[in-house]
Amino acid sequence: MKFSDIIGQSVLVNSLKRAVEEDKVANGYIFCGPKGCGKKLTAFVFASALNCKGADREKPCEVCSSCIKFINGNHPNIEIVKPTGATIKIKQMRDIISEVSKTSLEAGFKVIIIDNAEKMTHEAQDAFLKTLEEPPQNTVFLLLTENQHSLLPTIVSRCQVYNIKRISNNDMERYLKNHYKLDEDKVKLATAHSNGIIGRAVQILQDNDYINERNLYIKTIKMLFEGNYNEASMLVSDIAASREAAEGYTDFALSWFRDIMVLWEAPDAADDIVKNIDMLDELENIKGSLTKWKLYKIIDIIKDTLKQIKQNVSFKNSLECMILNILEVSNGKDSWGKV
Ligand SMILES: [Zn+2]
Repeated sequence: MKFSDIIGQSVLVNSLKRAVEEDKVANGYIFCGPKGCGKKLTAFVFASALNCKGADREKPCEVCSSCIKFINGNHPNIEIVKPTGATIKIKQMRDIISEVSKTSLEAGFKVIIIDNAEKMTHEAQDAFLKTLEEPPQNTVFLLLTENQHSLLPTIVSRCQVYNIKRISNNDMERYLKNHYKLDEDKVKLATAHSNGIIGRAVQILQDNDYINERNLYIKTIKMLFEGNYNEASMLVSDIAASREAAEGYTDFALSWFRDIMVLWEAPDAADDIVKNIDMLDELENIKGSLTKWKLYKIIDIIKDTLKQIKQNVSFKNSLECMILNILEVSNGKDSWGKV
């Protein structure tokens, strides 16, 4: 893997490349971004580049002895710390710190990747902070996190912080077309549902369950608009058996009705903005049975439900209320139960 494999992150990539070229490497870096955005890839490419022996070639060169060890996953200069159970514990940090100070290095940099760094316990963070204040020579810590705010401010202030950006639809489509031989529709669908996160797009492409799941989601909405409340409600409670699944379903419902809003407000931009672009006929059908006012009301109901699910309110009750309220709005009854 090379820096050119990191898509749509030019500021980050240029800065890391410069650090390698000019040999101005900080002791700590934080790569922050949602799951699947490329934090690990970035960490591995940077670690390879820091240790690459390829003179006169762009680093990492992928052919020198060091790069080969990275590719084979047996380079002695890289260590990965990740949660055991729910957290990264102080013992894990102490172990890694004592190993770093003892190990006689192969030439280059020792790179410690702390994956899910936000899961470090307070004590583990304290121990880490002390090391960061007096770091061993030629040692670089790469903290990968979805939420840098869970890290001690004193740790954050001692690291270079990079937020990995969501990538544009164009970049995503180009990447998917170059790496996977797939038809245009599937690439567009994966791009639209990826929220700019490459890992998510790849997961959608490789996961038939996702497509099947989405078909069920769509079925519940169609049922609801055909007036089959009981069937829709039963199917939703099957689909949304866990909080995570309930959030996935509600997220989808939001994307569906936002698509209808786009068809209403910006039909010319539909090709670029509508997420469920392969379902235009279905979207138009449901649009035909709504007024704009009803549509906005439904979007508000779904947003409130999503908020409740995230706030640990009973997700089953929240979803049930959501369905009932959408039904009431679509039927034009004037009884807005609070969701
Ligand atoms: Zn190399």
